[in-house]
Amino acid sequence: MNASGLSSDQLKLQARVRELAAGPVAKRAAEVDRTEQYPWDNVELLKDAKLLGMTIPQQYGGQGKNWLDAVLVIEALSAACSVTGRIAVETNMGAISAVMAYGSEEQKKLAADMVLSGDKPAICITEPEAGSDANGMTTRADKKGNRYVVNGRKHWITGGGVSRLHLIFAKVYDEKGNEEGIGGFLAIRDETAGLKITKREPTMGLRGIPEAVIDFEDMELPPSALVIPPRGLKKGFADLMNAYNSQRVGAATVALGIAEGAYQLALDWSEERHQFGRPINEFQGLQWKLADMSIKLRAAQALVYDAARSGEGSFPDMLLAAQAKVFTSENAIQVVNDALQFFGARGYSRELPLERMARDVRMFTIGGGTAEVLRNVVAGALLKKKLPQTRDGWAKAD
Ligand SMILES: Cc1cc2nc3c(=O)[nH]c(=O)nc-3n(C[C@H](O)[C@H](O)[C@H](O)COP(=O)(O)OP(=O)(O)OC[C@H]3O[C@@H](n4cnc5c(N)ncnc54)[C@H](O)[C@@H]3O)c2cc1C
Repeated sequence: MNASGLSSDQLKLQARVRELAAGPVAKRAAEVDRTEQYPWDNVELLKDAKLLGMTIPQQYGGQGKNWLDAVLVIEALSAACSVTGRIAVETNMGAISAVMAYGSEEQKKLAADMVLSGDKPAICITEPEAGSDANGMTTRADKKGNRYVVNGRKHWITGGGVSRLHLIFAKVYDEKGNEEGIGGFLAIRDETAGLKITKREPTMGLRGIPEAVIDFEDMELPPSALVIPPRGLKKGFADLMNAYNSQRVGAATVALGIAEGAYQLALDWSEERHQFGRPINEFQGLQWKLADMSIKLRAAQALVYDAARSGEGSFPDMLLAAQAKVFTSENAIQVVNDALQFFGARGYSRELPLERMARDVRMFTIGGGTAEVLRNVVAGALLKKKLPQTRDGWAKAD
């Protein structure tokens, strides 16, 4: 897919990354899935190609690229390997963007150096009993003298066990035990006692990046580790959600890239495969399917690019990011499913990438805010009110 409105620099960037994706990245994708090993070699490729930490401001060693630049990179990589696309998301958006927006000079330098040298930071929000209702988290950071002591459990943390830098969200309590709200802390795995990776989830797809359970057992952090201060019961959480809009656009982009990759495979195959004495793309049923797939992708791309553009100088707009993620994630699943169908039995084989793409793309209506919860975000923004289903405590809602 090629959208209009890209600058010549962006078109060049897109062409360069497409080449990288079609070459070494595509070659490794099946193996990354089969072995479930984090693709450190692709991290090196991205580093050499200056695609890690592109959005980090120049003064911290990055290139100060905007969200759309990052989106173009993620889209092209994900068409070949969604795991590599996700690495591009998490080294340009999400945790790193939160640190660059809210962190101290020291924190920004630390995070920028780590990402630019190949670390994909982990963002730790979700807990076994606090998923969509992240505000209900029970991981706590108790102020004790000149230290915070963190206890709790996070799960489904992308990169757990390979990431070093962690941005951890916890309820913060003062010395007297009063809750101050949700705050975000930085901790480095293997350098911070009490940060333990305790389980790797056996995932359906996206198998090259571990999803992990992380336990914090009396993990002591200095006040200088606090990146997003609680600032009242709701403010720290609002800052977190604001930064998370970049991650949502990134997640939508991975889904878009996977679907575009699958669509292209189906388009090519429809010319190559002959049945009844002609290419299968001469059957109108398949022509209309291709037409529908292209329309869905074109619309998804426009929503994603628009959401990315809305974040110029800050974070993408919450409404646009939510709309883009809901539409793209749901339609990408359908497009990949349709693409697989073009291949008949071959589509069901692990020798072709379609089945991997179908497993990988399924994630994006779940992680980073489910499609249902994001519909709540959209409706809340349209109606300009907090909806009953997102208020704290159903019993208190009315
Ligand atoms: C591959 C993957 C990677 C992830 N990576 C990370 C990560 O790096 N860091 C992190 O912190 N988390 C991560 N997550 C967790 C993810 O953000 C959560 O799974 C998600 O927020 C949903 O939470 P849950 O799984 O507990 O589902 P639940 O909240 O239990 O939801 C169950 C169902 O109820 C629906 N539902 C819940 N509330 C409402 C409502 N108010 N209105 C309508 N429907 C509702 C949901 O949409 C869903 O269908 C990841 C998840 C996956 C699958």
